[in-house]
Amino acid sequence: MSEKLIISKLNGHDKEGKVGKVYFKAGDHVSAGEILFTIESGKGSLKYKSEYTGTIEALTVEAGSIVTKGQEVGLIDGKREVKQAKAYSFGLSKPAKKDIHAEVLIIGGGPGGYVAALRSAQLGKKVVLIEEDKLGGTCLNYGCIPTKALSHSTKVLNHIRQGHEYGFTVHDFDVNIKKMMERKDQVVETLVSGVDHLMASNDIEVYTGRGQVVSKDLIAVKNKSLDLSVTFDHLIIAVGSEPGYIPIEGHDLKSVMTSRHALAMEDVPDSMVIIGGGVIGMEFAFIFNALGTEVHVVEYMPEILGLLDQDVVDVIRESAEDKGIKIHRGARASRIIETLNKKVITEFEIGDQTYRVASERVMMAVGRKPRLDSLDLQKLGVDLNDNNNGILVDDFMKTTNDKVYAIGDVTNIMQLAHVASHQGMVAAEHISGLSHKMDYEKVPSAIFTQPEVGHVGITEKIALERGINYKASKFYFAANGKSVAMNETEGFVKLIYDLDRQVLIGGVIVGGHGTDMIATVTNMVDQGVSLQEAASVIYAHPTSAEAIHEALLGLEDRSLHGL
Ligand code: FAD
Repeated sequence: MSEKLIISKLNGHDKEGKVGKVYFKAGDHVSAGEILFTIESGKGSLKYKSEYTGTIEALTVEAGSIVTKGQEVGLIDGKREVKQAKAYSFGLSKPAKKDIHAEVLIIGGGPGGYVAALRSAQLGKKVVLIEEDKLGGTCLNYGCIPTKALSHSTKVLNHIRQGHEYGFTVHDFDVNIKKMMERKDQVVETLVSGVDHLMASNDIEVYTGRGQVVSKDLIAVKNKSLDLSVTFDHLIIAVGSEPGYIPIEGHDLKSVMTSRHALAMEDVPDSMVIIGGGVIGMEFAFIFNALGTEVHVVEYMPEILGLLDQDVVDVIRESAEDKGIKIHRGARASRIIETLNKKVITEFEIGDQTYRVASERVMMAVGRKPRLDSLDLQKLGVDLNDNNNGILVDDFMKTTNDKVYAIGDVTNIMQLAHVASHQGMVAAEHISGLSHKMDYEKVPSAIFTQPEVGHVGITEKIALERGINYKASKFYFAANGKSVAMNETEGFVKLIYDLDRQVLIGGVIVGGHGTDMIATVTNMVDQGVSLQEAASVIYAHPTSAEAIHEALLGLEDRSLHGL
């Protein structure tokens, strides 16, 4: 019987796609699961597979044809062989038991796990991925992406407020938190569905459920709809981390939230205390401040964003304080007390003085805890590091069990999404016999405060601590043409040069677009280019990146526009 071939899905929210390679023509025999053609879009390549086994009667697309969702693209005389989802059985029937084998089994679908899955599939492995929540993990669903979506909304909001500086007057505008959150959710959904498509188009089998260790060689997932057992040649643990907390009195009150709760809020609190002035705490401080919340940051260490150089932190702290964010440094939060008027009081000590701040909400942003209890590591023969706070791995991400690798936040080496992804590639490649070591000295980081910070390599304070014979060169955005035109004159580019080894060893950009521009400095630090080579490159004008060129010239005391 003739059946219609219909385009049932496209990449993400794409409305249309372009046909790439076409593998079959009318008259060919095709089996269910074989790729008929690919559909390309800005989001990547999607494999359009046949759901039927039979003979193609007509195929109306060719390379370059534009297709839309729901479009009929041909006819096939054959039998549908794709399994239909079973009707819900009110729990009366058990899911069928399924035993499979994976060459590479991955537990956790965050930026570590899904990238390891993609790289393993590229290297020709049969890959199975188990994720108990949503593909994309913390980063896409509850971390990097939603915070950046909100941070961008507040950046636009600040621009509107500064309209008069650009020559226009905004008489009236509303902040619609519901719409802002909807936009954030849409951004997340687009990217998560993109990962979903990538898994499908790379033939990676994804199972939803909690992976559990049965034995050293067997992982199981058992839930209402799945009874799965997976044996494996290699296992990659990528189970990530969860918000940490300090166990002070009141830490478990309803008004005390984590970043995850903050991202799901339906209203803007009038006041908030953020315990922890690290990256996550400070990013949220700027977001809530822009939304009109009175924000207090309580930081235990003598300074916020403690890993950065003092001159960088000064720019961020001054910007925060100018905007009205109150920062309490060297402040030890001691308890949180509920009051009768729906407020909570955060008590903290600075030296021998006790302070109290009343607020509608408190957010704990005191670091993240690797999910070491998510799997029975002992049963797997996987050891922890010396501090018992992360899985012990070698430079290739291999654990103490030769068949098992661990990547991402669960290793607790550097809790960053791009580190997790890179570790995922290193592990996948090592499993496939390629050797490419992790090097943590040249990892960049991006901090979305206002202004933002991009950083890579050695800071000036580390250079001093290590006794490195270095030279630092700084160029301020106030002397950069594009920055003046864009009204983004806060901050600077600073480069650290090792005078003995004659290589750039670090750099930081605090200012507009610092998180994007740090890629240029990262390349130079990573490749160990000579100063002469780096400084002889032509930078386009007018761009903020010219500040990098000026800082390079400054290392040879020949900056042209230095203040
Ligand atoms: P995760 O992303 O945590 O993924 C682990 C996955 O494993 C989860 O989806 C979980 O459901 C699943 N899982 C756990 N146990 C099991 C099990 N037994 N069975 C099946 N599945 C399981 N990093 C940056 O680089 N840049 C940023 O701007 C940035 N911003 C952030 C903002 C916030 C608010 C937060 C919280 C984090 C941010 N991070 C940022 C950090 C980044 O999110 C993490 O470093 C990254 O997600 C770690 O990736 P991962 O793959 O190791 O773990």
